[in-house]
Amino acid sequence: MIEYPVSFIASPIGNREDITRRALEVLQSVDTICCEDTRHTGLLLAHYEIRDKKLISLHEHNELQRAPDIATRALAGERFAVVSDAGMPGVSDPGYRLIQELKLREVGFTVLPGPSAVITALVGSGLPCDAFFFAGFLPVKSGRKATLLQAAVDASHTSIFYESPYRIVKTITALASIDPDVPCCVARELTKKFETYHRGSASEIAEAFTKHPPKGEMVVLIGGQNAPRLQSSSTD
Ligand code: SAM
Repeated sequence: MIEYPVSFIASPIGNREDITRRALEVLQSVDTICCEDTRHTGLLLAHYEIRDKKLISLHEHNELQRAPDIATRALAGERFAVVSDAGMPGVSDPGYRLIQELKLREVGFTVLPGPSAVITALVGSGLPCDAFFFAGFLPVKSGRKATLLQAAVDASHTSIFYESPYRIVKTITALASIDPDVPCCVARELTKKFETYHRGSASEIAEAFTKHPPKGEMVVLIGGQNAPRLQSSSTD
């Protein structure tokens, strides 16, 4: 079943049932699972009755130090799975630095596709999904953020960012001050009980969020020049 020494595996972003059969088979058959938080991944494994697995932590603070040891052990025959707390490893999550080490040492690796907030939000946003730009988390500094938001408004593709619930009202207000009519979407709590897509112009969403600041995990999507001007709507 396992064809590669190291498998990077997408895991659920909120709904535990969103995991592929192949992901479960590989998690079941590897020797060691690298994960951001052993407790969090332990709960997912317990849910699928995957027991007695060796778990090692791999997070942003130790990935660089751990990567050479994982590569050495993989070359010696140990089989690894790598998961993050949610979604696709490497996408605003650990994974990239380990992949650099595996490439350098010529250790084989593969990726098992599955949930990722960016792709889920893109399709659900109703904004054009034929061409898009994703830049991970928006910068906190207002000057750098404004530069990115302006570029998103001027672009011919959809732009996508992860954002904190603590900064979302300020961010959408800043976007509305650049272009109040730009079509956008804030996709919240995807795959979870309170999943909501807030779709509309920047000024409509800014006004709604100023009255009722949203909570939870969220993705901001900005339509750019080719996006149709949308009627405001929320789907939950
Ligand atoms: N690796 C993950 C992926 O593939 O989507 C992203 C991890 S990043 C550390 C976490 C951010 O992704 C959150 O702050 C939020 O912006 C976004 N996110 C993750 N899960 C989400 C969900 N269920 N709904 C909305 N946004 C989500």
